[in-house]
Amino acid sequence: MNTHELIEIEEKYGAHNYHPLDVVIERGEGVWVYDVEGNRYLDCLSAYSALNQGHVHPRILNALKAQAEKVTLTSRAFRNDQLPLFYKELSELTGYEMSLPMNSGAEAVETALKVARKWGYDVKKIPHYQAEIIVADGNFHGRTISIVSFSSEPLYKDAFGPFTPGFLSVPYGDAAALEKAITPNTAAVMIEPIQGEGGVLIPPAGYLKKVSEVCKKNNVLLIADEIQTGLGRTGKLFASDHEGVRPDMVIIGKALAGGFYPVSAVLADSDIMSLYLPGEHGSTFGGNPLACAVARESLKVIVEENLVQNSAELGEYFLERLAEIPSKHVKEVRGKGLFIGVELKAEARGARRFCEALQQKGILAKETHSHIIRFAPPLVIDKETIDWAIPRIYDVLMMD
Ligand SMILES: *Cc1c(COP(=O)(O)O)cnc(C)c1O
Repeated sequence: MNTHELIEIEEKYGAHNYHPLDVVIERGEGVWVYDVEGNRYLDCLSAYSALNQGHVHPRILNALKAQAEKVTLTSRAFRNDQLPLFYKELSELTGYEMSLPMNSGAEAVETALKVARKWGYDVKKIPHYQAEIIVADGNFHGRTISIVSFSSEPLYKDAFGPFTPGFLSVPYGDAAALEKAITPNTAAVMIEPIQGEGGVLIPPAGYLKKVSEVCKKNNVLLIADEIQTGLGRTGKLFASDHEGVRPDMVIIGKALAGGFYPVSAVLADSDIMSLYLPGEHGSTFGGNPLACAVARESLKVIVEENLVQNSAELGEYFLERLAEIPSKHVKEVRGKGLFIGVELKAEARGARRFCEALQQKGILAKETHSHIIRFAPPLVIDKETIDWAIPRIYDVLMMD
């Protein structure tokens, strides 16, 4: 079936909760994807950074196949032989004593919020059901009702009330405003070190460090949502590392399973994680042996292929080349590692038409909000590929 036919079927039978570019991908390899017409594209979205290791990484594929032939799901009612090793390797890599695996990012966010509330009651002694959690304007933490309850984006939120109470949002990048919002009932602050869906928004230098100090001073937990920024995307293992901050909890997902499988996790030390008692939280699929085998190999690929270093070096190179393009449409080019946003001026009439033009040139990128183009290719990209992409991006950004 061709592109047109497949799109027609999708639009007829599927919910319209996305507005995708009209490219129908049938195959991927490394940084490249191929559509049903045989056209090749450079993937500059990486499934919102779930594909840091590139498409169909052969090592992860082998791990998936090998595990799928043995056992795929046990539920946590029984133990499996992959979960302990996943825990151990994740702990050794990240320095956190414990973790709790879930599937989607949103579930891991909920997992962190629940244990933060419990910590508030059991440890901080906040009065029953008075715990508050502070988040930042422009946040994106997922799509559950509780999570959209503290979104500041009307599109994500407004149709879906009534909302979960107990959350307070403060301006992003303003540590003083955050400190002012803290009360004796504040259990936690949850922040993205760089706001991805918000538009690759990088807060002022020192912000996260200051937030971390404010949290410590006030006996408030700091939760970093690194679902998109973590695992090498910004040129460090975690974006929090850029400021030497060690949050009390880190939430990861997306690239944790190299695009093969939904795997997420919350990282914390045992004083927090041990608050969860049997039966208080769970997931049928969380921690299943297939997920664990895939995630273990995905982490090994990040380390053994030096993807964090590659992200730092090639991210800097890509950013420099992009910033050189003398486009009248561009307001700002910003980024850390291979996490780059090109913000367009209001007069540019939106990012969508630029993304469509990039598609014609063999590059897939997606607008965030209406006026920002995100460039976040798989971290396995090389310099030659960036050099291939730059003149194409140049032509698109220079159009009228
Ligand atoms: C993608 C994302 C999520 C949600 O993850 P899902 O797997 O889509 O539920 C949460 N937080 C951040 C920062 C994200 O980028």
